[in-house]
Amino acid sequence: MKVTSLRDGYVDMPVRRLRQPGDKPFGDDLPAQVSLVDGALRLSVNAFAVDDGREITLIDTGSSNAWHPTMGFLPQALSEAEIAVDRIRTVAFTHTHLDHIHGLVLADGGDGFPQLSRLLVPRPELDMFRAEARLKRFHDRAEPFEPGQRLGPNIETIATAGHEVGHTCFRIVSGGETLLIWGDTVHVPSLQFDRPEVAWEFDADQEQARASRLRIMGLAADNGYFVAGAHLDSPGVGGVSRTETGFRFEPV
Ligand SMILES: [Zn+2]
Repeated sequence: MKVTSLRDGYVDMPVRRLRQPGDKPFGDDLPAQVSLVDGALRLSVNAFAVDDGREITLIDTGSSNAWHPTMGFLPQALSEAEIAVDRIRTVAFTHTHLDHIHGLVLADGGDGFPQLSRLLVPRPELDMFRAEARLKRFHDRAEPFEPGQRLGPNIETIATAGHEVGHTCFRIVSGGETLLIWGDTVHVPSLQFDRPEVAWEFDADQEQARASRLRIMGLAADNGYFVAGAHLDSPGVGGVSRTETGFRFEPV
């Protein structure tokens, strides 16, 4: 298996999106370790192409022109990686937020993946996906998947609800190594590994997101799994280890 990190771009977010337990924003108590760009949190936006030698499964698609203009560069990233879009037959979403699904349609209105034959959406978010008018042509093609479902010989889904009701990690196993493509488990890596209790304003259920984050970070740290995140600093792949109080991310 070969996994390629694809950079869709980045998005700048206000610090108040970070939430302490009790849905409390940070003020003067924002830890110095949080890196800011012009006073904002800069989140990478990544997607991942999983190539089993036969075909490519794309996990998330970036946001195309549906959100901030600092995103939507997935087509260029694919071209730089010399991945022909015609080889992408399967697209699977970690969840159905804007910055993950809109790459199905190019900024010029064309299909992002003309040979798409399988479009996999977490079952609890099928209605959310079908509410996106910009993606209307895909509404009937969306196929729901379940927790623990095998999408192929080397890809399995793990339910990690919280950030969204159907939020999912994809476990990729190959050659004795395991990678968790974990979507939005972490939004601000400079803080949320060290303090996994810190949540994100856009988490549908902050408490549940905290629990999922702790569980999946523990799974990675205790088993030596690599992780790949949609909002870890590009390219967003690394290892996780435990510290006294939380976790540490070691980028590769
Ligand atoms: Zn996201």
